[in-house]
Amino acid sequence: MGRTKIKKWSHYLSNQRMIAERLSELLQKLPASVTLVAVSKTKPVSAILEAYDLGQRDFGENKVQELVDKYEQLPKDIRWHLIGHLQSNKVKYIAPFVHLIHSVDSLKLLKEINKQGAKNHRTIDCLLQFHIAQEETKFGLNLAEAIELLESEDFKSFNHVRICGVMGMASFTEDFELIRTEFRTLKGNYSTLKERFFNDSNYFKELSFGMSSDYSLAIEEGSTMIRVGSTLFGER
Ligand SMILES: *Cc1c(COP(=O)(O)O)cnc(C)c1O
Repeated sequence: MGRTKIKKWSHYLSNQRMIAERLSELLQKLPASVTLVAVSKTKPVSAILEAYDLGQRDFGENKVQELVDKYEQLPKDIRWHLIGHLQSNKVKYIAPFVHLIHSVDSLKLLKEINKQGAKNHRTIDCLLQFHIAQEETKFGLNLAEAIELLESEDFKSFNHVRICGVMGMASFTEDFELIRTEFRTLKGNYSTLKERFFNDSNYFKELSFGMSSDYSLAIEEGSTMIRVGSTLFGER
């Protein structure tokens, strides 16, 4: 018993130090134009606090229940990002506090976010998620679908959501040239939408792409928001 406890405690300590070291290292490399969203999914609140103590304020979660649980336990100046697939019936749980929803992939979902934004007397910032990877399973819009959404009468009537940019996940591959191509597709979509719908909207400025394995490439390709989990907090 005693032995196990000691082992766990020392593991905890070294893990905490590791987070601080990895975070400072990453922040040093980051251009001022890039926001780091620390992806804390599956990690305990103690790990989040370690990063928080170093000044990190943007954290990303992919599940609504986990996001709400952590929001309740942690300091209220944390900016919470929902980065995973979101079901319309769960929007109400995060609407009071979420900072940015990265994963808007349908008009139906956006309609619900708008409704919950109104209920909470706030405007909820969102990104349109694009499908840029080769895998079938990843969620997201294509350019034609995004244009259709933004041209709809429904969208024009929404007063409690703001589309601040785009998000995408590249293929899960070692082929960096393929990843680069996918990032460029996303950036191309961003530019098309910017010109067509958001030319006068200075809030439409975010490009959320790049994770642990490809964030350096993402920064080269113009990402403004990288979402990094395992590089900071260790493998899940
Ligand atoms: C988990 C996750 C990340 C972070 O992945 P890492 O490889 O651990 O950096 C980024 N974006 C989304 C949407 C995720 O679900």
